[in-house]
Amino acid sequence: MVPHMSHGAKTMIPVRDRDAVLQELAAMRARDTRWRDGRVFSLVYHAGDAHEQLLKDAHAMYASANLLNPMAFPSLARMEREIIEIAGRLFHAAGAVGTVTSGGTESILCAVAAYRDRARRERPWIRSPELVVPTTIHPAFDKAAHYLGVKLVKVALRDDLRADPRAMARAITWRTIGMCASAPQYPHGVVDPIAELGAIAQKKKIPLHVDACVGGWMLPWLEQLGRPVPLWDFRVPGVTSISADLHKYAYAGKGASTLVWRSMDQMKYQIFVATDFPGGIYASPTMIGTRPGGPIAAAWAALHALGDEGYLALAKTAADTADRLRAGIRELGLDVLGGAGDATIVTWAAPSAGRKGDKLDVYAVADRMESRGWTIDRQHRPATIHLTVTANHAGIVDPYLADLRASLDEVRRDPRLAKSGSAPMYGMAAKMPVRGLVARKVRGLIADMYARTSAQHLAEARAAGPR
Ligand SMILES: *Cc1c(COP(=O)(O)O)cnc(C)c1O
Repeated sequence: MVPHMSHGAKTMIPVRDRDAVLQELAAMRARDTRWRDGRVFSLVYHAGDAHEQLLKDAHAMYASANLLNPMAFPSLARMEREIIEIAGRLFHAAGAVGTVTSGGTESILCAVAAYRDRARRERPWIRSPELVVPTTIHPAFDKAAHYLGVKLVKVALRDDLRADPRAMARAITWRTIGMCASAPQYPHGVVDPIAELGAIAQKKKIPLHVDACVGGWMLPWLEQLGRPVPLWDFRVPGVTSISADLHKYAYAGKGASTLVWRSMDQMKYQIFVATDFPGGIYASPTMIGTRPGGPIAAAWAALHALGDEGYLALAKTAADTADRLRAGIRELGLDVLGGAGDATIVTWAAPSAGRKGDKLDVYAVADRMESRGWTIDRQHRPATIHLTVTANHAGIVDPYLADLRASLDEVRRDPRLAKSGSAPMYGMAAKMPVRGLVARKVRGLIADMYARTSAQHLAEARAAGPR
């Protein structure tokens, strides 16, 4: 097999049989979360096995293709253009331009970089640029700000959990290079008041980015279905750019998002060029270098195979499912945040009113749910449980509610449950006043995870037993 290997050289990677390799990959999935059964929220958006097969087929066709050079891959350049044109129609700016990226975080990194560089060009006296954002803006903005030397000025929400336009207007200074808000924000699923923020942005002559990573490919269909959706897109004149993830509610394969600009005048700051590399002139519109073709082809295939009809049907199923979950959760005496909900995110909390002495620990409930085979998204400040509801969850409403009822009973019967499992850690992490300490602790945990060898990980997994 390796005839020219020098005598006595140590084997680095033993060659294994192809089928055995694939079998092991398949077997490894046994401990992963059961996303096909709708037992997990927010990590996977599944539109059925036939649709998944289409994604795989399209991905496989372009798995080795690379959009780093659009001249070499006009096919991928065309797919990107067509995806952005569809986004432009959906978001009501026919002349919109933009790029397909590898995910929401990359879309946001590109947007923040472009706004920073535009400010550097147009207002070079700003030494410490600031973006004014609500506290519910996604951590991808913290990451972008951290990487790019921009400061996020975080503004408290209104009582209805939406961004507070008056407070955001007050936070704007001569250092402000733009505002960002969400449609909807992830934690509670409500759409920020984009129309009011757009008016402020225009008055103050600053750009406004709308983070519609989770909502961009869902809200247009909800609106068409006749559900009340606040204005959030390019119909608001002050909106300059929108991030919207294909790998969420466009039901594309993983690794695909869109960053859409109202005009090239704004987008041009996103394009990076290096001229002195001996390897040639290097131009790149996004953060990554090599641009995998698979996710772009899969996203293009998803859009065309589902079309208006497919997306409307998926949106209706997801919205009806979210409604049923909200109603059932309220019936259990829990609080559902965000009223009727602008989108298909459901967030619930311990009851806030009445019920004297009911100090329900939602993290203990989450632990009991996980012991029943669910993967639960815990949030803090305030302590809530989050569900990103997709069409794939239509079948889990009753089992979720039944398990939730049983979990609530368990926790109410046995208050010690709040002091075991993961509950105390989540409760404490939310309350610790020194956030730097929390960050250090979490960084340590992640570092430990990476420091352990695969043999140690395997031993631990075996000790923990099957999921
Ligand atoms: C998911 C999400 C992001 C980040 O997207 P990734 O694809 O995870 O990088 C940003 N903003 C919102 C509102 C999101 O829901």
